[in-house]
Amino acid sequence: MGIIGNPRKRVVVVGCGFGGASLARRLARRLDPLVEVVAFDTGPDLYNYTVLPRTLVESVPQRRVTTPLADLFSGLPIRLRIERVEGVDADSATLHTRHARLQYDYLVLATGSRAIPLQRDDASDVLYPKSARHLNRLREHISRSAAAAAEQRARDGTGAANRFAIVGGGLTGIEFAVAVREALDAALARRHASHRRPLVEIFEQGSRLLPASPERFSLHLQARLEAAGIGVRLNTQVHRVQEQSLVLDRQAIAADTVLCCIGTNPNLRFDIRGLGDTLAGIRVNRCLQSTVNERVLAIGDSADLAYRTGHFSTKFASQAIRQGKLVAENIGRLLSGTEMRPYHCDKLPVGVMLGTRIGSFEFGGWYYTGRLAGSLKRYLEMHW
Ligand SMILES: Cc1cc2nc3c(=O)[nH]c(=O)nc-3n(C[C@H](O)[C@H](O)[C@H](O)COP(=O)(O)OP(=O)(O)OC[C@H]3O[C@@H](n4cnc5c(N)ncnc54)[C@H](O)[C@@H]3O)c2cc1C
Repeated sequence: MGIIGNPRKRVVVVGCGFGGASLARRLARRLDPLVEVVAFDTGPDLYNYTVLPRTLVESVPQRRVTTPLADLFSGLPIRLRIERVEGVDADSATLHTRHARLQYDYLVLATGSRAIPLQRDDASDVLYPKSARHLNRLREHISRSAAAAAEQRARDGTGAANRFAIVGGGLTGIEFAVAVREALDAALARRHASHRRPLVEIFEQGSRLLPASPERFSLHLQARLEAAGIGVRLNTQVHRVQEQSLVLDRQAIAADTVLCCIGTNPNLRFDIRGLGDTLAGIRVNRCLQSTVNERVLAIGDSADLAYRTGHFSTKFASQAIRQGKLVAENIGRLLSGTEMRPYHCDKLPVGVMLGTRIGSFEFGGWYYTGRLAGSLKRYLEMHW
């Protein structure tokens, strides 16, 4: 649908995280003046989740954690609107915010995901790594725990054995366990109280860490974590947190700090009409177009790539960025009447930080662990 007197097509991007920002930039670079790009986000910054674990142990420049979208879009013809999109009506090709209603020719939904919550009672506290506020509280827990260990040692020569429970042994759980261990050890060393360390343990319901990766890689990661002083409890499902204890199948274990890393669901908490059932995400075809409405496309963590057959997760920044770039190219193809290209949902290399400098990369059953892998992961986190 053209806008009267304006032959340009309006492409609206909802969500300017890794996927949406890459898409908006490529659209503006390649397709201006054919398209008018309008990009919405609830906040003014791109939040770089991939560096969050490291912010516990080192000072990462703020612009690497939150990059202003105005800088990312600087010099590009993108109309950035810092407003929450409250509803989409795919049948009439409109969306609305609190203050305005807007028509689109193409809509790309890139609203990311939200943490799956762990059940808990009112007396218990659970932290989530995606929230800056919760990460600040995690830092407080770490320094309080080190202070308590030092005081205890001064009193009776022992140390306080607080437990930091990381629930979930995926990429996020592993990286946070490593970072918490390092941050605690550094805080204890500063207080000369390192002889009895607080416990850091991962609780994973599956039979191994990173269950979607090859088994030998999982075993390798487990050995590295255990050598670093991180407990790994496999086949252990945490049902809920009650009175600050983890309720497992047959026992309850007290945990001073609980960090929940059990996965995410698509973030589609707005009124969506005309796109069918969206619980598992916006269902898309191979070209990342909604299976119900061809003017709507979806990328990143909010898309449901039900067509694919691989058993690996696609909830990675690297996948969201690739999808954003492909969809920008495909919108160009739609406008020129050529055939769109499918998204080849390949498994991409998986990188895990295992310390401030050491990292590990796995691809196609092979893995490498060392400083080079650490430097590569750090580089990729910063230059996306
Ligand atoms: C702690 C942590 C560590 C991670 N580490 C890695 C890693 O090392 N490597 C890796 O590849 N991936 C990693 N990931 C996963 C990666 O961050 C996500 O897969 C990626 O961010 C998904 O990109 P996206 O564009 O789909 O969503 P996001 O980057 O989450 O962006 C979604 C955007 O949509 C906006 N939005 C939501 N709702 C609305 C609305 N109604 N209106 C307007 N805007 C809206 C949000 O504000 C947000 O800016 C990590 C994730 C976490 C939480």
